[in-house]
Amino acid sequence: MKWYELEINEVERSTGTHMEKGLTKKEAEKRLKQYGENKLDEGDKPSALFVFLNQFKDFMVLVLLAATLISGLLGEYIDAITIMVIVLLNGVLGFVQERKAEKSLAALKELSAPQMVVLRDGQWVKILSSEAVVGDIVKIASGDRIGADVRLISASGLKIEESSLTGESVPVQKVVDSIKGDAIEVGDQENMAFMGTMVTQGNGVGVIVATGMKTEMGKIAHLLQSTETLVTPLQRKLEQLGKILIAAALMLTALVVIIGVIQGHDVYTMILAGVSLAVAAIPEGLPAIVTVALALGVQRMIKRKAIVRRLPAVETLGCASVICSDKTGTLTQNKMTVTHVWSGGKTWNITGTGYEPVGDFLYQGKKVKVESNRTLQQLLVYGKLCNHASIKVNKEKDGVLKKAKTTYKLDGDPTEGALVVAAMKAGISDEEIQSHFTVVKEFPFESTRKMMTVIVKDKKGQLFAITKGAPDVILSNSTDIVYSEKMEPLTSRRLDEVNEAITTLASQALRTIAIAYRPIKAGESIEQTIDVERNLTFIGLEGMIDPPREEVRDSIRECRQAGIKTIMITGDHVITAKAIATQLSILPKGGKVLDGQTLSRLSVKDLEEIVDDVYVYARVSPEHKLKIVKALQAKGHIVAMTGDGVNDAPAIKAANIGIAMGITGTDVAKEASSLILSDDNFATIKAAIKEGRNIYENIRKFIRYMLASNVGEILVMLFAMMLGLPLPLVAIQILWINLVTDGLPAMALGMDKAEGDVMKRPPRSPNEGVFARGLAWKIISRGFMIGIVTLVAFMVTLNADPNDLMKAQTVAFVTLVMAQLIHVFDCRSEYSVFHRNPFENIYLVFAVISSILLMLVVVYYPPLQGIFHTTSLTGREWLLILGMASIPTVALGGFRLLKK
Ligand code: ATP
Repeated sequence: MKWYELEINEVERSTGTHMEKGLTKKEAEKRLKQYGENKLDEGDKPSALFVFLNQFKDFMVLVLLAATLISGLLGEYIDAITIMVIVLLNGVLGFVQERKAEKSLAALKELSAPQMVVLRDGQWVKILSSEAVVGDIVKIASGDRIGADVRLISASGLKIEESSLTGESVPVQKVVDSIKGDAIEVGDQENMAFMGTMVTQGNGVGVIVATGMKTEMGKIAHLLQSTETLVTPLQRKLEQLGKILIAAALMLTALVVIIGVIQGHDVYTMILAGVSLAVAAIPEGLPAIVTVALALGVQRMIKRKAIVRRLPAVETLGCASVICSDKTGTLTQNKMTVTHVWSGGKTWNITGTGYEPVGDFLYQGKKVKVESNRTLQQLLVYGKLCNHASIKVNKEKDGVLKKAKTTYKLDGDPTEGALVVAAMKAGISDEEIQSHFTVVKEFPFESTRKMMTVIVKDKKGQLFAITKGAPDVILSNSTDIVYSEKMEPLTSRRLDEVNEAITTLASQALRTIAIAYRPIKAGESIEQTIDVERNLTFIGLEGMIDPPREEVRDSIRECRQAGIKTIMITGDHVITAKAIATQLSILPKGGKVLDGQTLSRLSVKDLEEIVDDVYVYARVSPEHKLKIVKALQAKGHIVAMTGDGVNDAPAIKAANIGIAMGITGTDVAKEASSLILSDDNFATIKAAIKEGRNIYENIRKFIRYMLASNVGEILVMLFAMMLGLPLPLVAIQILWINLVTDGLPAMALGMDKAEGDVMKRPPRSPNEGVFARGLAWKIISRGFMIGIVTLVAFMVTLNADPNDLMKAQTVAFVTLVMAQLIHVFDCRSEYSVFHRNPFENIYLVFAVISSILLMLVVVYYPPLQGIFHTTSLTGREWLLILGMASIPTVALGGFRLLKK
């Protein structure tokens, strides 16, 4: 179908839709069922069986299986079967972990799934892009990634960048008229918007004509299928570390086997014990547990409204040293209310809060009628005309009070909504405005221009440009002013007066908007903004409050304690920015405020010199953000940067942690980001950083636990062989320990809560190794101690009855398990076991209790005793075991406590 050739009514007919009402919900559902979801096919996923079998591909596991097979053939059936079962269970555990990690990653993807705004049953509704069907009428705006192939039916300054489809990076100006021609290339179909392309400017409406694999993008989708592997730097580091650890474990195990054989032990038993030891000592589960810990942390972040788009960001979060935050909506509530109006030397106050259009106009404290001042009225009317927002009035029956409750909801930009409400408070109605003016053209607001303009026609057919925007920008484009209801030239005296009014409003932390106009002469060009937004006549100012978010002050303080600097970036006036930054205690004494103009003049090198002293950037354009990120990074900072618009994307991408707004953010900003704030709130960034730090600490915790346990296991065997003793542990016991003790508690450590002072330490250096801050020493010293106490318990028992090797082995087995299970609590703190309440992490308590129960079953249940080479223990033996097992943790912890 050549959609570009059709007239709009033909498109309406062919797609079976209705231009004013869209599809009905029922029809949309039917089409969705019939034609399928609006999605591009993804590559094949590995099957569950493949993932399961993958768990057994490890070389040492294969050796173990081979050894088991041999022992089976030699008649050691019970041993062989038990080892098989344990290996199988290990595989199941690995499989479950991997699947869980995968599932949570998939869930994550879904959370950041794209949405679009479509017309259904006459209402504009937001839906998941995957639910869009042919015939849906869809709204598109600057910053959107187009979600299907669309035939445009209206376009206002609409430009779309189609490089993903055509390779052409210059945005295409879109039109709505049909294009005649036979084989028009995709790049020349200017009345179409294609899936996957990006709106860089303007807005429009269109009809969806193709979805999913039927779109132009779908036709080339096989070219795009890339399976992005999500590996974090830490995971990569651990992978390398894993190789070293495997080599070390293999060498030590070989040593154990060789010494054992020299000491006269049976070769076969030694090899089986050696291979089991190697399987136990190789931390093959580490990468999977790291993924699970990351995934669990990511889920906790989601609960706190932070959606991680790229897993590596979780780690980087913990290193953040600077947060550059937008002001409006992130630090403040973005609930704008006009409280002051200035015109011709007079200031009016407006009462009322929120979007409820109820409030009075006060002049010098006295209530006045708006009609008494023509310029004031003109200002309010123009503020409403040059506007895209509207206030939706909803009357609801209150079930309890049986009274009608009216709610007012903003549809559109809060800054513009505030102007609408101010006009409504003056009794200016839509009907009245529509009966006097028609809007013929619109130049939407852009942060770079800081202005918006509409061209309107009055009843006499006269055209006007009405422009609103940042007061300094409007002033510099104005030549005249309406003063005392008369037009006069904007002299320097008047200019000073206006500037003083701006300063007065801004220093009360008000966002200021100026309004101006210009009659358009016959034949004058109104094609471009520069034709229109000049020689304006200044009318006045509206000042609006945007209260800070309540929780933000505390979050900023907490960040400061955590060694993280908060920087405010805003398009607002310098004085407004300064006032709010002071309120939020972002700006310390002596801290600098830099404005966009100065920033433009500085090179990145110049900025580097002063960047550490600057806390507020005001009147900046999104383009400036990249410079700020670069200068901060050059000074060695790890930068988190927020943004929402198309122009913010480069800075978001360049930042170490790019953060996009979930509510106000555009698709383009979201795609560039690694973190999305689903509530747009600064406090969420802080929560995410805290979680990021915690996740890293948790990973350190279980690395510490697993490796210390492994060191203990190897050393007890090695020392015994060196001392010419019998084997302290048999193969099956070692494998049991690997499965039970190393598995559950390590995972529970991944769920640990943050230690009290995670936000009181400075940020971690990104170059810090996994074993930094004394971790290597802790692992070796604790591992060494665990090995020694196990050996001592073994020797003491063996000494008491040299003929009962099984008893001594049981004691060694239980001592090793108990020493590890006590040690796990030590791993929760950077300081010592006495630093934290051991019952705080309920999962860990549960994991430890289940491990103990499983151990008791193995030791006391007769059928299992035979399999695991164990025997029942007496009270005295338990005393010895518990005494020995607590030494590594309690003694070393106590020693640290005393040292303090
Ligand atoms: P922040 O960085 O704090 O989020 P911002 O980036 O939203 O602020 P901009 O939206 O770029 O700031 O606004 C800059 C200035 O442009 C505002 O101070 C205001 O004077 C003016 N302005 C904002 N919105 C509009 C609008 N819709 N129409 C006209 N002027 C506007």
